[in-house]
Amino acid sequence: MARAFVTGITGQDGSYLAEALLDRGWEVHGLATSPPASGASTTPAGMPSASPASASPASGVTIHVGDLTDAPFLASVLDEVRPDLVVNLAGISSVAASWADPVRCAEVTGLAAVTLLELAWRLQERHGIPVRWLQASSAEIFGQPKLAAGEAISERTPIAPVSPYGAAKAFAHVTTGVYRTRGMHASTVILFNHESPRRPHAFVTRKITSTVAAIVQGRADKLVLGNQDARRDWGWAPDYVEAMVRAAEHDRADDFVVATGVAHSVGDFVAAAFAGAGIRDWASLVETDPALVRPTDPAVLVGDASKARAELGWTPTVGFEELVARMVAHDLGHSTDSAD
Ligand code: NAP
Repeated sequence: MARAFVTGITGQDGSYLAEALLDRGWEVHGLATSPPASGASTTPAGMPSASPASASPASGVTIHVGDLTDAPFLASVLDEVRPDLVVNLAGISSVAASWADPVRCAEVTGLAAVTLLELAWRLQERHGIPVRWLQASSAEIFGQPKLAAGEAISERTPIAPVSPYGAAKAFAHVTTGVYRTRGMHASTVILFNHESPRRPHAFVTRKITSTVAAIVQGRADKLVLGNQDARRDWGWAPDYVEAMVRAAEHDRADDFVVATGVAHSVGDFVAAAFAGAGIRDWASLVETDPALVRPTDPAVLVGDASKARAELGWTPTVGFEELVARMVAHDLGHSTDSAD
């Protein structure tokens, strides 16, 4: 049986990835900063959990409790687990949080990712057994690219981040390419925004769907947002996790854009959420707060996933309206997703 070590296992993607890998017969080990409430088994170094995770790791996953910035701990876990595949999903995953603490973001999302990559490389060298690496990269590494009309972001778009998050991700992305040149099966998935009922509430999409549900149920009066004109390419998280598995299992290591190729504005997301909740006349329920506007916010980010489609046979299966409706249904208590 192949063995995977996944960081960020308690996050949105980590929880779906654990399920997908277990379904395919992988043995799954995960890194979490605190022990899971239930479901997964934990290695002895567990500490009491201070705050609930946004998603619980699947049953059947072995959790190793520690921090991505703790290199000696990671070295001992890799020695013990001896994974065939390391997937790095952990990090400060929000642009807003990276502006609040750019140095911490650089340490966790950039430097710690590269430290883990080096540890995976050393493991491979020491035992002569291939260790594959998959890094969760981001569309934010491209910043505000100058594109021709109708052109989407691809793997060839110049890397020029405009946020601390994008810069930290760019460092891990470029270094993954360095290790690929060195002979390691090291890939990146360049993820565009992807959502699900397991998205943490700090993200605008989940804030929208949970607030719309709260308005419907009389627990909130208003939805307060920043820039509603920002346009993003939003996909369904389990589809993106499917791309990760395909990239990890693919013969040739490479960088793969994972995106739908279709952009919608935050305002479109709001409209779809109210539609999903059955509310037609919602304009007076939404307010703009300039304090919520980001210092620099790329206006449009649309991805060209032709390479993933051609080489991995990957394609998105859930469209925009459907994914928003699924999130609203969950927040109204109408779905069976095992999220919080
Ligand atoms: P998420 O839900 O925010 O999960 C982030 C994970 O990172 C959590 O499990 C968290 O664990 C872990 N983590 C944070 N700091 C850590 C540390 N110091 N040590 C160990 N673990 C730490 O993120 P996601 O949406 O699943 O995204 C997965 C990856 O894809 C991230 O790297 C993200 O940047 C990237 N990505 C996501 C999107 C998207 O739209 N979702 C788009 C582009 C790129 P704890 O809960 O234990 O702190």
